[in-house]
Amino acid sequence: METFSERLLAWYDRSRRVFSFRGTKDPYRVWLSEIMLQQTRTVTAEGYYDRFLARFPDVRALAAAPEEEVLKLWEGLGYYSRARNLLKAAREVAEKHGGRFPADVGLLRALPGVGPYTAAAVASIAFGLPEPAIDGNLTRVLARTQGVREDASLPSVRRALEDTARRLIDRERPGDFNQAMMDLGARICVPGTPDCESCPMRELCDAYAAGDAEALPVLPVKTPPGEVRLNVLVILWGDQVYLVPRKEALLKGLYVYCLTEDAPSAALRQLRIRAEAVPAGTARHVFTHRIWQMKLYLCRTEEVPEALRPCFYTLSRMEALPIPTAMKAARALARDALSKGACR
Ligand code: SF4
Repeated sequence: METFSERLLAWYDRSRRVFSFRGTKDPYRVWLSEIMLQQTRTVTAEGYYDRFLARFPDVRALAAAPEEEVLKLWEGLGYYSRARNLLKAAREVAEKHGGRFPADVGLLRALPGVGPYTAAAVASIAFGLPEPAIDGNLTRVLARTQGVREDASLPSVRRALEDTARRLIDRERPGDFNQAMMDLGARICVPGTPDCESCPMRELCDAYAAGDAEALPVLPVKTPPGEVRLNVLVILWGDQVYLVPRKEALLKGLYVYCLTEDAPSAALRQLRIRAEAVPAGTARHVFTHRIWQMKLYLCRTEEVPEALRPCFYTLSRMEALPIPTAMKAARALARDALSKGACR
């Protein structure tokens, strides 16, 4: 009788998706694509992947890059801790492993930003090791096909799912097995209502037989992200605008305008800047765990304390800085004001 992996791989061979990051066994490329694909749509990640490779063709080139350049290339992809860890991991591979990714799942996991999923994806795709790469897609496909009806977030259930995946994984083609499971989860066995009628695994699927695929996997209800109210001050001094790199974990190292939960006048006073804060609209940005509700203000000043002057940038210098998508509306405001030529 045809096994689970035989059937899955036969389908994958017929209908795999073609991406620029597929078809390579170069661990640097596999790792780079897997980091980019976390929390990001495949088509979006593909464009970034191509640009990154053009600029950093191998791990040594990336290891030698300044963080600000890596953040700039990452701009718009979000989850910037990935970019910072990418650089740290590249430097570790260059320094500790002689510029070669280790062919060992434990050593891969020890690299910054590499969790169990990414380590297993690199180990299986680049090195042919039988390591199941368990992400949301794999969890869903496994829970449905194997009829796992307990809370899939529980450690004991996760361990059982991993054991099952280890039993099912194809020993000859573990990388293709993982990618086939990801493809199936992304295209057919999707969250909510799966397309069971088009599914190659139908005859081997427990949930299909039981008719409860839509209810699986069982996961705890997510708490909605909390709201944070922020004032964003776009402070103009002549043909320059105020920007500072964030120190907080969220968006660390990226440049933002003056962000404050205080009243605009209090924030300006703290910076020792005399200016009127003129309301200039609102903006909203949704992160995984929080929402920023922002009020934008345009503030023009005649004078800036000496110590603050290095924090002011001309339009062309502003455009070269890594600025997060959360600042999109504020950046448009600054761009507009600076291109019209603010007068000192
Ligand atoms: S038959 Fe339906 S539930 Fe089962 S694996 Fe296929 S799409 Fe998923």
